[in-house]
Amino acid sequence: DKQIIPRDQHSVSRKQISSAALKVLYRLNASGYQAYLVGGGVRDLLLGGHPKDFDIATDAHPEIVDGLFSNARLIGRRFKLVHVRFGREIIEVATFRASADLDDEHLHEETGRILRDNTYGNQDEDAARRDFSVNALYYDISDFSIHAYANGLEDLNNKVLRLIGDPAVRYREDPVRMLRAARFAAKLGFTVDKAASDAIYELGELLAGVPSARLFDEALKLFMSGYGQASWKQLEHFNLLQYLLAEGPQAPTGLKLALLALASTDSRVAADKPVTPAFIYAAFLWEAFSKAHRKMLATDVAPQDAFFAAADSTVARQLMTTSIPKRFTLPMKEVWGLQSRLERHSKRNVKSCLFHPRFRAAYDFLLLREAAGEDTEGAGQWWTDYISSDEGKMLHDEAQEK
Ligand code: ATP
Ligand code: MG
Repeated sequence: DKQIIPRDQHSVSRKQISSAALKVLYRLNASGYQAYLVGGGVRDLLLGGHPKDFDIATDAHPEIVDGLFSNARLIGRRFKLVHVRFGREIIEVATFRASADLDDEHLHEETGRILRDNTYGNQDEDAARRDFSVNALYYDISDFSIHAYANGLEDLNNKVLRLIGDPAVRYREDPVRMLRAARFAAKLGFTVDKAASDAIYELGELLAGVPSARLFDEALKLFMSGYGQASWKQLEHFNLLQYLLAEGPQAPTGLKLALLALASTDSRVAADKPVTPAFIYAAFLWEAFSKAHRKMLATDVAPQDAFFAAADSTVARQLMTTSIPKRFTLPMKEVWGLQSRLERHSKRNVKSCLFHPRFRAAYDFLLLREAAGEDTEGAGQWWTDYISSDEGKMLHDEAQEK
């Protein structure tokens, strides 16, 4: 089921491909190997977008590729890849791999999960192990044609995400493909075809068995790539949020806060401004934290202890679902901790709030809470007024410079 589209019948041109990727493609080809641009790069070019990165597939084995480029590095233990570096750009070169589901030895007996995925194959086999048909597109540098598998081009034109093969089998091999379905639906505005979509409702809980670090990686792609709001809605639709958030928001204000934080992240990505997962996780878990905090405050522990107990337990519960590195959980807790201080804005506290390294994030967070419908007795407006007053502006500028 392979289809070859000659160069004059598709829209991909070499001008759209980075010169680094072209160099690698040409060198492989001149050395007698097949060389293709593959996956998301081809898909996004056909859709008229700008790919994040260019991945290359070849029949040359990693050691050969490594030897062809002085700026190459072999990486990976489970299966080897080659990274070829050009300044800040890294081109990933993968050797064709065989479809693991043809080979029982590589699958976990009970779950069907892929354990080893390291047998080399040919292009047909490489295409068969890819997830969606629109991700099994190859741009051939030898004649500039596109090789499509499993009706990938037709699906691309119809904006459909179709899993290659039997959806249940493919999700069992790798449950993360369910999150990828939601992600590509959000990113590309495609619909997930019925078979692939039905199987998600049936098999979603397999995600509970995926290592927490891999889930966090996937969560970053879902929420931090500029289409976070759309991702959240797709995850809601497919009932998958629970596998990324131990205690996600339930109340209308909590849900609104999550979407507002994602909207803010989306527009910052669009404007090329820095973004951090600390901010969106602070929003996602704010309702859970607040509940735990209120409970602790009702006991007779000291307020400081109540805060840390609530923050620590909320984070600890989340870490059982997805890992979050400390460099994100620490600022997240600081943003939470600053909320009550910003709400009080007591005279002797104002300056230390302003000079806190997390002031800006905490102030933005306060405004979002208000926009989500929380009542903070006008604290957001108070701070907005204060930092535009003469005294406040001076201190704020001084703090920002530090
Ligand atoms: P983007 O880079 O926009 O996130 P992409 O399609 O390039 O999208 P990557 O995660 O970069 O996605 O993966 C590159 C390619 O590798 C995919 O297009 C797909 O062909 C294949 N692939 C990646 N992850 C999987 C998976 N879990 N199962 C099967 N194939 C996969
Ligand atoms: Mg990619």
